[in-house]
Amino acid sequence: MPFSVLQDDLTALEAKGLRRRRRTLDSAQSAQVVVDGKNHIAFCSNDYLGLANHPALIAAAQAGAATYGVGAGASHLVLGHARAHENLEQQLATFVGLPRALLFSTGYMANLGVVTALLGREDAVFADRLNHASLNDACLLSRAQFKRFAHNDLAQLESLLIATKVRRKLIVVDAVFSMDGDIAPVPELLALAERHDAWLLLDDAHGFGVLGANGRGVRAHFNVQSPRIIYMATLGKAAGGFGAFVAGDGTLIETLMQRARTYIYTTAMPPLLACAVSKGVELMASGALLRKQLNENIIQLKHALTSNLPEGWQLLPSITAIQPLVIGDNRAATNVAEKLAARGVLVPAIRPPTVPQGTARLRISLSAAHTQDDVRMLCDALIAAGREIS
Ligand SMILES: *Cc1c(COP(=O)(O)O)cnc(C)c1O
Repeated sequence: MPFSVLQDDLTALEAKGLRRRRRTLDSAQSAQVVVDGKNHIAFCSNDYLGLANHPALIAAAQAGAATYGVGAGASHLVLGHARAHENLEQQLATFVGLPRALLFSTGYMANLGVVTALLGREDAVFADRLNHASLNDACLLSRAQFKRFAHNDLAQLESLLIATKVRRKLIVVDAVFSMDGDIAPVPELLALAERHDAWLLLDDAHGFGVLGANGRGVRAHFNVQSPRIIYMATLGKAAGGFGAFVAGDGTLIETLMQRARTYIYTTAMPPLLACAVSKGVELMASGALLRKQLNENIIQLKHALTSNLPEGWQLLPSITAIQPLVIGDNRAATNVAEKLAARGVLVPAIRPPTVPQGTARLRISLSAAHTQDDVRMLCDALIAAGREIS
C-alpha cells in the first residue's frame, strides 16, 4: 500500500493520547451550539464578543454579496482589491491609530508574509518560546537566525540582542499568548527594541477588540506608541469575521505590499467578508457593554473555581478571555473534556505539541455571548468532574 509507511505515526499518536478528532457543528458559531443533533454550551471559540453570528454582520455580508458577488476572483494586485477592502484598510488604520494597514487572507499568512518580507539570511529574529505556530513557521521560512527566549524572559532576550551582530533585528511575540492567556510585557519589549535598534512585531490576535480603550488592542492597553511597532491582528476572532491585517509605518506597509509573498500570490479575501468585518470593527469600537459582559464572565469563572478544584489542577493567572485550566496528563485532560461534553459543555483539551509536554489543559475561552448561567454550568461541571477523578 503506497501510504502504509505513514500508519506507524498515526498508531503512535493514538497510543500517546494525541490523536485529534473533529466535532461537526450543525449551527452557527455561538455560545449555544448544536453538535451531533444535541444542544451544547461551548467554550471553544475565539469569538470573544459574540459577533460571529451577529445579525448586523450577516446583513453586511449579504449586502456585500449582492454588490460584489462571492469570489474576489483575483489577487489584490491583479484586480482582486475591491472598494470594500480599500475602505476596510482605512477603517482599520484609523481605528488602531497607525498610518496604514494592509489586509491579509488569514493571520497565518500575515505572519508568514511579514517576517519573510522583512528578514533574510543576514538578519536575526528573536521569538518568545510560547509564540503561536504561525510565527515560528514564519521565522523558519525567513532563513534569518532564529533565536528563541524563555517565555517573557527579558534578560535572556537582551543578552541575545547584545550577542547578535546582524543587519536587521526583529523581536516577535504574541501580544496575548494563545494557550496561556497572559499578556506580553510590551513596554519592556519596546524599550529593548529601542535600545538595540530592533523592530517589534506584535501578534494581537487575542487582544484586538478585547483589550484597551474601545478594544483598540494591546497598544492601547499599555498606551504605547512607536514607529518600530509592526502591529498584526486577526479578523476571525473578536471581530467576528475572517482574515487579518498588518498596520504600521507607511514605508513598512508599502514594502509588505511589494514583497510579502503571502499577500501577492493568493486570492484576495471575498469582498463580502470585508463588508462583514467592517461592521464587526464598528460594533467592536462601540462595544463597551460587550467587553463589560466578557469581563464579568471572567471574574465569575475565577471566583467560582478558586479553591474548588482538585490538587494539581491549576487555573492560570490570566485576565483575558483565554482561561486555561492546566491538568497535566494528556489522557486526563481528554477525559475531563469528555465528562464535560457528556453534560453538554464543550471545552477543548489542548495537548502537546500545541503546549509543552506535561501541561495538557482545558482551554476555556469566554465570550460576551455567555450568560451568567452558562458560566455557572461550566464551573459546576468542572468541579463535579474534578471530584469524580480525584
Ligand atoms: C489565530 C491566531 C493566528 C492565525 O490567525 P488566522 O487568521 O486564524 O490564520 C495567528 N496568531 C495567533 C496568536 C493566533 O491566535
